[in-house]
Amino acid sequence: MKTFCGRANPTTGAMEWVEEDENYDYHQEIARSRYADMLHDKDRNTKYYQGIRAAVSRVKERGEKAIVLDIGTGTGLLSMMAAAAGADFCYAIEVFKPMANAAVKIVEKNGFRDKIKVINKHSTEVTVGPDGDMQCRANILVTELFDTELIGEGALPTYEHAHKYLVQEGCEAVPHRATVYVQLVESKRMWSWNKLFPVRVEAEDGEKIIVSPSEVEKCPGVPSVCDIQLNQMPSSDFTILSDVVTMFSVDFSKPVRSASACYRVQLEPVRSGKAQIVLSWWDIDMDPSGTINCTMAPYWVKSTSASQWRDHWMQCVYFLPNEEPVLQGEQLYLTACRDEYSVWYKLQKAREEENKADVRVESPVCRCQAHLLWNRPRFGQLNDQNRTCQYVKSLMKVLKADSVCLCVSDGSLLPVLAHHLGAQQVFTLENSAVSCSVMQKFFKANNLEDKIKIIEARPELLTPSHLKDQKISVLVGEPFFTTSLLPWHNLYFWYARTAVSRHLTSDATVLPQSASLHMMIVEFQDLWRIRSPCGTCEGFDVRTMDDMIQNSLNFRESKEAEPHPLWEYPCKSLSDPQQVLTFDFRETVPPHGLSTEGSVHLLRKGQSHGAVLWMEYHLTADISISTGLTQISNEKGNCEWNPHCKQAVYFFSSVTESQTLSEFSTAVKYAINFDTKTGEIAMDFKLLETTG
Ligand code: SAH
Repeated sequence: MKTFCGRANPTTGAMEWVEEDENYDYHQEIARSRYADMLHDKDRNTKYYQGIRAAVSRVKERGEKAIVLDIGTGTGLLSMMAAAAGADFCYAIEVFKPMANAAVKIVEKNGFRDKIKVINKHSTEVTVGPDGDMQCRANILVTELFDTELIGEGALPTYEHAHKYLVQEGCEAVPHRATVYVQLVESKRMWSWNKLFPVRVEAEDGEKIIVSPSEVEKCPGVPSVCDIQLNQMPSSDFTILSDVVTMFSVDFSKPVRSASACYRVQLEPVRSGKAQIVLSWWDIDMDPSGTINCTMAPYWVKSTSASQWRDHWMQCVYFLPNEEPVLQGEQLYLTACRDEYSVWYKLQKAREEENKADVRVESPVCRCQAHLLWNRPRFGQLNDQNRTCQYVKSLMKVLKADSVCLCVSDGSLLPVLAHHLGAQQVFTLENSAVSCSVMQKFFKANNLEDKIKIIEARPELLTPSHLKDQKISVLVGEPFFTTSLLPWHNLYFWYARTAVSRHLTSDATVLPQSASLHMMIVEFQDLWRIRSPCGTCEGFDVRTMDDMIQNSLNFRESKEAEPHPLWEYPCKSLSDPQQVLTFDFRETVPPHGLSTEGSVHLLRKGQSHGAVLWMEYHLTADISISTGLTQISNEKGNCEWNPHCKQAVYFFSSVTESQTLSEFSTAVKYAINFDTKTGEIAMDFKLLETTG
């Protein structure tokens, strides 16, 4: 079956109807799934195996048959572990049909057809009884339904239901328990992801400061979890204010309650400072005694944690509703509240503790809308004062006293900069009701409501009357658009520039004047694992899964670059960075495509896992901004990346197709093509080896 889906093209802005194969979503989900990453997670797998073996023996020692319920079996891995450990029978439940099908094949291939029954249902639909999916209730409950926040994938309601209907009282559970830990910190860097700090603008007539509306300042932000690779956060970027504290635990062998709950702990700051952030992670004990423990603790808590790399479980950053000065040794109460799927925090001083009425804490809801318009990296970017300086310097070069300026970017502060730097008239084109409303609040808070005019229109619908019959002499953009996923999607600015051409004066300045696409060949420390086939996992043949992922990657031959924030994923450069394409914003988008090919010489020995691509914006002839590489920090080729942007990663087939990775490639041939009609960038790479 084919369906047509309407969507705006992120680069060209054109509305298009795409014919979606009914399998399209499946293939996307599988190709970009975390299954491979989980299968590569040796630490997780070995501990599950140990825990499952121990649980099966405990049941057998009691003289009972070991009947296993594996909820969310995925590849069938945990059920196969149980069967291999001597379980009598396993019910393997999987809601996602393509995975359930894969599990059937994998189970069969590994010879467990008689021991494992794969059931393609959500666990809450599973029936028990002589004619049911399960003959009887299980006495071993095995699951891996956890996300970085532990409960975000619905583990609690699933356990609650399973204890009521699918397992026996007193069952063994693997994992046996999970515990959530927290640590209070001060961190300007992380705090800048949720609050907008005053933005300083050095204008010729003195310093101007752009302030946040109080509504934005007081807003707690959005409830979605902020999960990051905390091991990549240097210790100089935060100050620890408390010891690690146990916040709450869940015993999975007993009935679990998913209803909302609050947990409160007392803590004494080890240092005075500003309490802003709660860092959090969890561990799971695979057995009741807690001897088999799998932890997400960051490097300063557990020094070996960096060697247990994984991307499917990371650490959480929670923003307190407001920053709170705290004193070393004073009594504080930290409250964690959760509903079925998410957790949030509140800090209280001991003396307020008397006031018990206030124990229930509301979940954070953004009312100011700024947190809906700007995601966390975007807040970080807007708070980057160095970046603002580059825009200020370049605007100063191009603005004149009679400049009529139009800004095209979503929720940008550039119009305010342009006003402060002396433009006569400033217009800003905002694409959505949310961005209009947020910008209005900002202009009001800075007494600029009558200085900057907001136009809510798409660029092609801009009319002279929007512009009060004036021509634009300076067109500016960061560029930044909320619809951009890959770096080059911000080329939408070029299309918008083309659409507003007739409103520009004949000698109008366009800032940035151009952009360029850059590329570098890298060896990842760990990220390659997420796309690399597994072969066998703990002795089980999971190649069916590898093939399935490969098949999805090849679906419609749509192997594509994918966005990753590389500050979280260390890599070393194997080549010099190369500029591969340029886009001249002073001209309109050409009707023909842009393409390039060539080869990059590899300077360092290493495994060529892929190419990283990013955009640089040339604001003026001599001022540029990189959204990718900022520096190669040492002779080993370690890279530093713009911390506010995602870069594009194209994994080579040597990673995705389990070929033996060659250390001996000397060059990489590339062909890159930008189709100006579709806005898509297609690329092809070939590793070259010198022979002889
Ligand atoms: N057990 C596998 C896969 C874990 S991923 C392993 O450890 O490698 C979790 C899987 O659980 C996903 O495939 C998801 O589709 C499935 N899932 C989550 N909740 C479920 C539920 N309540 N019932 C059935 N499947 C569920």
